[in-house]
Amino acid sequence: MKNKSAFINKCSGYNSAKKDLFMTIYLDYNATAPVREGAIRAVTDSLSAVGNPSSVHYHGRDVRKTVEQTRETLAHHLGFNPIDITFTSGATEANNMVILGHPANTLVVSATEHPSVIQSAQNSGKKVVILPVDENGVLDCTVLEKILRGTAEKALVSIMAVNNETGVIQPMLDIATLCRQYGAEFHCDAVQAPGKLDMAEPAKLADYLILSAHKIGGPMGVGALIYNHHHVLTKVFYGGGQERRRRSGTENVPGIIGFAAAVKQAELERAEKNALWLKWQKTLEEHIHRTTPHAIIVGQAVQRVTQTIQVVLPDVPAQKQLMFMDINGISVSSGSACSSGSVQPSHVLLAQGYGDRANNALRLSWGHATTQEDMDNFMTVWDKMADNFYKK
Ligand code: PMP
Repeated sequence: MKNKSAFINKCSGYNSAKKDLFMTIYLDYNATAPVREGAIRAVTDSLSAVGNPSSVHYHGRDVRKTVEQTRETLAHHLGFNPIDITFTSGATEANNMVILGHPANTLVVSATEHPSVIQSAQNSGKKVVILPVDENGVLDCTVLEKILRGTAEKALVSIMAVNNETGVIQPMLDIATLCRQYGAEFHCDAVQAPGKLDMAEPAKLADYLILSAHKIGGPMGVGALIYNHHHVLTKVFYGGGQERRRRSGTENVPGIIGFAAAVKQAELERAEKNALWLKWQKTLEEHIHRTTPHAIIVGQAVQRVTQTIQVVLPDVPAQKQLMFMDINGISVSSGSACSSGSVQPSHVLLAQGYGDRANNALRLSWGHATTQEDMDNFMTVWDKMADNFYKK
């Protein structure tokens, strides 16, 4: 990230006399994190290796050895058993593999899941029960218990560890305990957790755990589905039988190598970064409350990760906020952009009872390369935005 920081500094000029220079600050890590230097190096080096890991000749065996060592590195840093890791093209594929391939005919899915969970469930042909959340986005475990008690067959329960829009953490232990008690299996999309939470707990609690490299500072297009060999999923893809017959398709070797490099770095700096991010989160939230007292910080009363803030400005559509931020050099998100780039009301906030205000949310998310200067500049632009929309 040295180069990028240099670029930001060079291009900033925000507090300098040269106001025509353009500041660019990236605060959209939950969409994707900048690729870490270690991951860039690991990917770049891996590109010169020759051989398909499934080939039996020397070159193939050599690449296979690298893939298996990388699987072990990833497992070691996140507390998994290497044999349980299946590499995929990302979390979307992995979530679909679980939802579509699981033998259960009843899927119990929280209302704030990622579309790769909700939409695959809705298109699975299975019975889907949507679990409500409270106004903070936390799952109501009494409702989950009632549903599981009333479900005769073994269900699959899909609940994410950390919400990508709000940063709210779900009560994983309570959910896993209920699943065990009622013979259900627990599928956890933990994409937003590594580098923020200790993964030892989710690793122990979930029957199926989902990760994606690009949220951690690894490359895009690679992820993992982690599940124990006692579980059997029906195949979604047919082909060469790679990944111990769980996921056909030649492994994305450079991606896998970059993934492990990013995870290693993220885990090594997790404690130190969390302390700093918590400080920033508190400072920013105090600032937002002071300058825009009617702003609502989503989930502030409950457990959240330290690098996300979702803030609702009741009278200002997200599209306007995003445009204002963008022309002032800040890349943030509403948390609810679809692939066409248009801003839709957040399904997460709708589920939390925000009604029309689900159109008015801005999500800030920072990470490994964010600096104090980025935070200071964001607060200046926030004040400018408040002036622009409220004090005319
Ligand atoms: N789940 C969550 C919680 C996410 O935030 C994302 C990415 N927005 C995904 C799944 C999809 O991940 P991928 O880009 O690897 O398909």
